[in-house]
Amino acid sequence: MPGVKDQKIRLATVWLSGCSGCHMSFLDMDEHLLELQKLVHLVFSPLADHKCFPEGVDVVLVEGAVANTEHLALAQTLRRRSRVVVALGDCAVTGNVPALRNRLDSEGLLQAVYADGERLPGLDPRREVPQLLSSVLPLHRVIPVDVFLPGCPPAPRSIQAAVGALIQGESFVLPESMRRFG
Ligand code: SF4
Repeated sequence: MPGVKDQKIRLATVWLSGCSGCHMSFLDMDEHLLELQKLVHLVFSPLADHKCFPEGVDVVLVEGAVANTEHLALAQTLRRRSRVVVALGDCAVTGNVPALRNRLDSEGLLQAVYADGERLPGLDPRREVPQLLSSVLPLHRVIPVDVFLPGCPPAPRSIQAAVGALIQGESFVLPESMRRFG
């Protein structure tokens, strides 16, 4: 639902296991961002360094795959608190680059780098680093996703078109073509 006070759409963006290229593509909408900011209130984003995912989000764009327990918890939270969840980019849609580690011995790598390697004073990696999931997963493997926007990264014009359609739709009715993986 649009924000009660200003009637703007409450938009969030989330960065899970990705390279930030999808967020860079979002920023590459350039002057269209000026039009967008008239329509939306950015309530959570790495671009603004928010700390807690808020309640009552209308649309959330999620970059990246789900690779560790922090990602999983955030994905579940954003699903509960958002009307429309968009998997933004191939990492969120398929796992893509982060999922390459699914063929590797992740536990062995962690052991070699952190436990057997040179220790940094005061750093306990097992406590500081979020626990890896056994496999990197695309977003729809852990929560229901409403819209899939593939690409590595999706082109700025594609993001612009999708976000524009979502925030201008009276009830967020999605074109069939945008739900092809749903
Ligand atoms: Fe980076 Fe491509 Fe993944 Fe986006 S889809 S986070 S650009 S690797």
